[in-house]
Amino acid sequence: MSKLSELAPSYIRSIAAYQPGKPIADLAREMDLQPEQIVKLASNENPLGVGPKAEAAMHAALTDIARYPDGNSFILRDAVCAKFNVKPDQLIFGNGSNDILELAARAFLTAGDEAIYAQHAFAVYALVTQAVGAKGVVIPAKEYGHDLPAMLAAITAKTRIIFVANPNNPTGTLLPKDELFAFLKAVPSNILVVLDEAYDEYLSDTYKSEAIKWLAEFDNLIISRSFSKAYGLAGLRIGFGVTSTDIADIINRVRQPFNVNSVAQAAAAASLEDDEFVERTRALNQAGMLQITRGLTQLDLDYIPSFGNFVSFRVANTKEVYQKLLQSGVIVRPIAAYEMPEYLRVSIGLYSENEKFLQALKAILSS
Ligand SMILES: *Cc1c(COP(=O)(O)O)cnc(C)c1O
Repeated sequence: MSKLSELAPSYIRSIAAYQPGKPIADLAREMDLQPEQIVKLASNENPLGVGPKAEAAMHAALTDIARYPDGNSFILRDAVCAKFNVKPDQLIFGNGSNDILELAARAFLTAGDEAIYAQHAFAVYALVTQAVGAKGVVIPAKEYGHDLPAMLAAITAKTRIIFVANPNNPTGTLLPKDELFAFLKAVPSNILVVLDEAYDEYLSDTYKSEAIKWLAEFDNLIISRSFSKAYGLAGLRIGFGVTSTDIADIINRVRQPFNVNSVAQAAAAASLEDDEFVERTRALNQAGMLQITRGLTQLDLDYIPSFGNFVSFRVANTKEVYQKLLQSGVIVRPIAAYEMPEYLRVSIGLYSENEKFLQALKAILSS
């Protein structure tokens, strides 16, 4: 045997490593730039940073850091129940909502099982499916969004989980509520649907998800929510799942007892009481989305209309444009790994950050 890595099962060795957005510190080192000169619009983070209530709670929680966190996230659980009108035993807390996706896969998928997800859907569905040796069944996208009828048609006796991202990242597409509801009705009740709603807070009232109410009807539904995006807590790693008590119970058995740290629990609970901050975030995103999409249109670039805090646009020579944006101190995200090699994804930032991105892009395209 030449390499110890060959001891790992083939389904592990065939996993393509997740490609995160380039950290500011990395680019600063590589290009000899000051971090302040760099604008990172690559990971859909909140450009306002952390909200004031969450920040205060975080600092307060630091005094108790020598103790293990509450493995049941009691205070946070209470806050989520009050906010979303769910019962305590319907919840699963995770080290980021990615943890919820992984826990669902670990609890319900084994070698030989199938998980269905859409082409261009969030990369973590493939990752967690492959990590347990199950088979990912990728359904071609329809106008960059999920083709729900085709996903239904792909169900076999081996299907255990269907992952649905709404809105999806990196395409920003949103499924109409009635289509999603009809889909849930049509999915056999012994197949789980993991509905990933990481960007729900960015939706206007008309579009906001009602899926938590639908839990009364669908015991096989798992909704995942994140504190990484609108709540501005990406670095703390915290998210949660809401589902039937039966599913929550089984998933909680595979969860590590202390998977969510105490600072994250405190900050997340406080952030749920900061509607003002979330609303400010949403309004900033709406204005920034207009600013960026208008700018792209002025540059004659096509983009996919997005319901998230990011937008993917089409440009010739993506690799070159990406590199030149880096040289200008602007980090965006290439999404070739999502089978979208002709697109770049830009996160919506502050007004000045969006402007810096548009100016740099304009200069690159006209050079
Ligand atoms: C960013 C994102 C998440 C959030 O992941 P966390 O682990 O909560 O940071 C989940 N799903 C999608 C589709 C995302 O884009």
